[in-house]
Amino acid sequence: MTTAPGPRIDVVYHDITVRILEVLRVRRVTPRMVRVTLGGPELEGFVDRSPADHVKVFFPEPGAELPVLPRVADDGDGLDFPTRAPFPVSRDYTTRRFDPVAGELDLDFVLHGRGVAARWAERAEPGMRLGVAGPRGSIVVPWEFDWYLFAGDETALPAIARMLEDLPEGVPVKVFLLVDDAGEEEEIPTRADAEIVWLHRGGLAHGEGDFLEKAVRGVEFLPGLPFVWVAGEAGELKPVRRYLHRELRLNRDYTDVDGFWKRGVVNLDHHEPQDEDDEDNVPAG
Ligand SMILES: Cc1cc2nc3c(=O)[nH]c(=O)nc-3n(C[C@H](O)[C@H](O)[C@H](O)COP(=O)(O)OP(=O)(O)OC[C@H]3O[C@@H](n4cnc5c(N)ncnc54)[C@H](O)[C@@H]3O)c2cc1C
Repeated sequence: MTTAPGPRIDVVYHDITVRILEVLRVRRVTPRMVRVTLGGPELEGFVDRSPADHVKVFFPEPGAELPVLPRVADDGDGLDFPTRAPFPVSRDYTTRRFDPVAGELDLDFVLHGRGVAARWAERAEPGMRLGVAGPRGSIVVPWEFDWYLFAGDETALPAIARMLEDLPEGVPVKVFLLVDDAGEEEEIPTRADAEIVWLHRGGLAHGEGDFLEKAVRGVEFLPGLPFVWVAGEAGELKPVRRYLHRELRLNRDYTDVDGFWKRGVVNLDHHEPQDEDDEDNVPAG
């Protein structure tokens, strides 16, 4: 919960549940983004409160049909991971869409070519199964700010798209989305007064370059109180966080800059502080 004198941001914790879900559909949203629709009886009771909610996804070992899963801790607070092999293999993913009536949960996977998750998503097809734990908690941001600034790479796109879909009519929002090229741009419906700028890497590797820093530094701030949300490669975001926190001295309760992955690091733990300006977030599981 925030202590700042403006709009109140609440953190709502949910009971943790570990589920096995089945792939119902797979769709290429763009050449390098795949949408996997999950369902099945165990989706019953799934909770999704906020556009940036995320889950821990557990992947089967190559050749296996089912993933190794952790247990819910005896006190119900978090997950107990085994102390010896086989160990669960998990990654964090945003809940791109949850439809309790249809019994469907969409996750969007960036096909970056390496890693357990990206490789699983590359060959995902109906009938395959995954483990899903969480969301552990939801950061509930009220749409009461004067304006919004969102920025990020493809891994942030699902959350930013959800926020844009959710924002009320006419609310000013400036958005910067970093993707490889024009083929990776997505249609994002919104009622907000959104200025969406797509940035292209133009051949640079993911996490290289200072596209997001340059974009955010170039923003002309609107009058009133903004809420700022930025996510992407941890190294690329350090100067962005520094600029927003230190140079602009924005209220940290209202300025969330979260490294979602890090070049050369397998399964970055985004709860670990990423620099001296970073604070912790809500765990997925
Ligand atoms: C809260 C949260 C929500 C997230 N939501 C999403 C989401 O909705 N969709 C999504 O695709 N990702 C999302 N991510 C990021 C995702 O969890 C990481 O990219 C994860 O590392 C992917 O796992 P992997 O097994 O594919 O790669 P890993 O095994 O973790 O890493 C293998 C190698 O690939 C590199 N790598 C990892 N991710 C990328 C990337 N995106 N581009 C280029 N290289 C990469 C690593 O640096 C490493 O060298 C989210 C992360 C967090 C913390």
